[in-house]
Amino acid sequence: MERVYIGLGSNLAKPIEQLRAALAALDALPHSRLVTVSSFYASDPLGPADQPRYVNAVAALDTSLAPLPLLDALQAIEQDQGRQRKAERWGPRTLDLDILLFGQRLIDEPRLQVPHYHLHARPFVLYPLAEITTDLQLADGRSLSALLEACPFRGIERLPEQ
Ligand code: ATP
Ligand code: MG
Ligand code: MG
Repeated sequence: MERVYIGLGSNLAKPIEQLRAALAALDALPHSRLVTVSSFYASDPLGPADQPRYVNAVAALDTSLAPLPLLDALQAIEQDQGRQRKAERWGPRTLDLDILLFGQRLIDEPRLQVPHYHLHARPFVLYPLAEITTDLQLADGRSLSALLEACPFRGIERLPEQ
């Protein structure tokens, strides 16, 4: 088993319910176990500003799935929950599931880059990740605490326990 951190996001069709359904689907993946989930956070959208705020969380999953089969499974969950891929980047979506970290792997393939290329710039990823880890070191040598210091807690708010 390897520990994988997955970023969840939604800003359409009852985002909190979307995240709950996605967590149940993650827990039901073969050869996998959902270990922990952060609090839910409300966050300002990236990209186009004329869209609702997001709800985000980070989950820890232990899995013996390989990275690309896991990505396939995450994309199937996105599809099941009505994700429509549009030309516009970072547009509104019912569900986004991104692989943030996959054990200590460094992956650079056409369909998959891990660590996620933009995690250092996203408070809605770093702060929930910090909630469910301690002393996290990324495979590329960066420490989560250094990334947090460089990324202010701005544009996000932790939601009360659901
Ligand atoms: P961003 O990647 O900036 O968060 P996004 O999540 O909206 O944007 P998507 O439309 O969900 O982007 O995914 C576009 C493609 O990104 C996917 O088809 C997938 O192959 C690729 N991808 C590359 N690295 C990853 C990763 N670590 N996790 C999920 N998808 C990834
Ligand atoms: Mg994303
Ligand atoms: Mg994505």
